[in-house]
Amino acid sequence: MTFSDLGLNAALLQSLSENNISSPSEIQQKAIPVILNSTKNVVGVAQTGTGKTAAFGLPVLQQINPSLQQTQVLVLVPTRELGQQVAKDLFVFSRYIVRIHTEAVYGGKKIEEQIKKLETPKHILVATPGRLLDLIARKAVNLSNLKYLILDEADEMLNMGFLPDIDKIMKIAKPTARKLLFTSTLGSELKLIIREYLGTDIEEIRI
Ligand code: AMP
Repeated sequence: MTFSDLGLNAALLQSLSENNISSPSEIQQKAIPVILNSTKNVVGVAQTGTGKTAAFGLPVLQQINPSLQQTQVLVLVPTRELGQQVAKDLFVFSRYIVRIHTEAVYGGKKIEEQIKKLETPKHILVATPGRLLDLIARKAVNLSNLKYLILDEADEMLNMGFLPDIDKIMKIAKPTARKLLFTSTLGSELKLIIREYLGTDIEEIRI
């Protein structure tokens, strides 16, 4: 099984090969075709370090329209460190796709600087929930054109008390945005969130 077999385009294959990422991991083999070919919301249960960033990042990058200067993808993450890592991975994977812009926004950094950077809308926003809500309140972020809303390490976001923020964001974001949720554990609180915001007709991937 190769990344080409999974349906990824030449630009993505080029960046993968240059980064010596040659054979897809299990979560990538399962998630990439589903994200590319289905329209259902997706729940992926996988530990960190299994390659889940590429599992959602590659097929989502392939579905962005670079000529639309709108935020098409939002990735919610629990921490600044994960946000920086996800943004870096997406930047590396998108090297040969012309003009895809990614920005990571998180608390602890001057909001004015982030607002300035967001004056040109970014195709992909990677964000911690609290800072994202501050930016939305200041009209620096517009989620009305979103195609994908991704929750990364969803269990960790709940552990950190982000449930009220996530509730607000899910209600603000474009309702038709496709939702992808990744988690390493699937507890009862998370199952309720999934039922409320992703529905019951979902693709569930477990490794
Ligand atoms: P993640 O689980 O997304 O945090 O990825 C863990 C690490 O594995 C990252 O450094 C990725 O660049 C790397 N990685 C992701 N997919 C693959 C793969 N198919 N082959 C080799 N390394 C990978």
